[in-house]
Amino acid sequence: MAEVKFINVVKEFEDERKGKVRAVNDANFTVKDKEFLVFVGPSGCGKTTSLRMIAGLERQSSGDIYIGNRLVNKVHPKDRDIAMVFQDYALYPHMTIKENLAFGLKNLKTPKAEIEKKINEAAAILSIENLLDRKPRELSGGQKQRIAVGRAIVRNPSVFLFDEPLSNLDAKLRVQMRVELSELHKRLGATVIYVTHDQVEAMTLGQRIVVMNQGEIQQIAAPEELYENPNNMFVAGFIGSPPMNFIKCRLDGNKLIAADCTFTIPSEKLEKYKKYQGKEVILGIRPEDILSTNLLSYQPETNIVQRTLKVVEHLGAELLFYFSVGDDQVTGRVSADAKLTGLTKVELFFNLEKMHLFDPTTQVRI
Ligand code: ATP
Repeated sequence: MAEVKFINVVKEFEDERKGKVRAVNDANFTVKDKEFLVFVGPSGCGKTTSLRMIAGLERQSSGDIYIGNRLVNKVHPKDRDIAMVFQDYALYPHMTIKENLAFGLKNLKTPKAEIEKKINEAAAILSIENLLDRKPRELSGGQKQRIAVGRAIVRNPSVFLFDEPLSNLDAKLRVQMRVELSELHKRLGATVIYVTHDQVEAMTLGQRIVVMNQGEIQQIAAPEELYENPNNMFVAGFIGSPPMNFIKCRLDGNKLIAADCTFTIPSEKLEKYKKYQGKEVILGIRPEDILSTNLLSYQPETNIVQRTLKVVEHLGAELLFYFSVGDDQVTGRVSADAKLTGLTKVELFFNLEKMHLFDPTTQVRI
């Protein structure tokens, strides 16, 4: 079993200028055995620190960390049965690829024949057999990345830790490596904990995702759940591209009164909003839930808004279009068949079946 568990884990750093910085604040979660779990959040949110605490490269200020059933608070990194893949690959430039792969195993005093066998196995899994005699400088970014993963594989750990391993690759290679990492995870049957600031990477790789902001875990959920039911405005705005739109409104009966238009709330949703009657709320609606009526096969009776589009961007199969509601900037996304153009007046349908409401003070979803 290679579960990883955080119980009330806190990490504070002493910063010369800012004093105490709380990089991770009271984190609690369990990564399941054989799970692919992704930490995602903006720069400085505490995701790398969380990973480094699992690896034992950073000691938590308080709280407990378990790997398997073992409390590892005082266990040395090399004895934690983990292997970490770093963003910069950390390959030794003067060694051949084979020597790089063998290095950790030699340190563990693994017999030579076994080292040979493990390297050959990893090389076959990663299709790097023809690179073994080269030096790192003779490899492309994608190949170096594969070697860094290979170095982790030969150690046969029960937990793999990845710290932004794809961020030095170009966009096309990143997509390819994402697929490879997913396949590798299935094949190795190991627990994987992966850190990235890229929400697309998180959504495509993670079986579950931990969204962090300013040292706090905002939500832990499967990708679809995060997208459909975000806990708060941070998660709603971070997951999804373009992000969810937020529009200031006041709730009045079954109406949402915005600065320059009014929306009608589907009746089945009203019950959960009743505490907010007469109050300010934030309407959250995703770009794909704002449709151009020229694409609809029916004429909706409510939630139609006339707007002049500021800009339309062509993405091939889709269009992004920009307009405003009061002083809130709003983005919509439709099929290119809508043939929208900038600076023209259009009729838009807001599909409030897909709406969310947020409390403007706490930013929590209502
Ligand atoms: P990034 O994506 O930029 O790597 P991150 O989410 O991984 O960001 P961390 O590196 O975990 O964030 O940092 C979290 C917070 O802790 C930041 O405010 C950072 O400045 C601070 N921090 C991290 N390491 C140290 C350190 N060794 N000394 C002081 N402060 C630190």
